[in-house]
Amino acid sequence: MSLENKGEVKIRSLKRIFINIRTILKILIVISIATFIIIGIVVLFFSPTYSVSFNGEFIGYSKNKTKLQNRINEYMNNPGIANAAFVEIEELPEYKLCLLKNDVQANDDEIFEKVKSTGITYYTYYAILDNKEEKYYVATADEAQSVIDKLKEKKSNNKDDLGFIQKYETELKEFTDVETVVSKLYEKPPVQRNLYTAKISTAANYTSKKVDLGIDLIRPTSGIITSRFGSRGSGRHTGLDIAAAKGTTIKAAAGGTVTFSGERGTYGLTVIISHGNGVETYYAHCNRLVVKAGQTVSQGEKIAEMGSTGNSTGPHLHLEIRVNGVAQNPQNYLY
Ligand SMILES: [Zn+2]
Repeated sequence: MSLENKGEVKIRSLKRIFINIRTILKILIVISIATFIIIGIVVLFFSPTYSVSFNGEFIGYSKNKTKLQNRINEYMNNPGIANAAFVEIEELPEYKLCLLKNDVQANDDEIFEKVKSTGITYYTYYAILDNKEEKYYVATADEAQSVIDKLKEKKSNNKDDLGFIQKYETELKEFTDVETVVSKLYEKPPVQRNLYTAKISTAANYTSKKVDLGIDLIRPTSGIITSRFGSRGSGRHTGLDIAAAKGTTIKAAAGGTVTFSGERGTYGLTVIISHGNGVETYYAHCNRLVVKAGQTVSQGEKIAEMGSTGNSTGPHLHLEIRVNGVAQNPQNYLY
């Protein structure tokens, strides 16, 4: 072979390689175009959709799984019902991605309602406790606190046994308004008079020394003084006796709170009024009482009618003034 021939052969084989590359490129381009067309068709007629099943049952399609699940989560955390704390849904829906024709309808609303309908709603509210027992229910912590505060302020006898707890239940209880709970739970504080009734005529709770009562007294009734303070030999007289006709009006010597009104042993029908700072007045042997314990009375208000009940020989008022249980001489202040 000549040198020229050798050169021609080289050129021809190069040409062949070139043609082959072109063919490969052509094929690649055709494949790419075909792929694009197929994708285009898929995008045009099909779209990625989630098939949703719930408790093993197919319940519909969703185009936007995240949005649907967020809506369910939102509902569970904040159901938007009064006093509802949260909703418990035992099983969450399952999502499976699939390609479906574009005209398949998503039914997110139906799916949501279906999932929602299986939810168990937990309500929260507050139980007012008296001695650890649930008594009444209120909607908010503020109301519960207000009940406790009000009863403490009123010095209710059960004030130290009261409390409240937050409840989470699947059923809502009937609520009671604050004022009703306060009035139902209120217990009158004990009247501190038992301390001295047992030692009514001992020297320790009997004094002739004048003390400052801090209040001015008026005469509860008018009549004849039949027995003075400290008189009578054996048991010293702890009050002042004023006699008048049966039924004569007896008035409060000063304003205050009636702490006792009723039968009281040898005192008969008796009214006791507390005037604060340990000062009390007693009105004994009455024929009729017109006030009740717990009642507030003002100075001069009619509280009873004169009589001869208890250890008494005739209609008279046995008037006592006590300071911290110690009987004072009424005539240091009156008559
Ligand atoms: Zn007397």
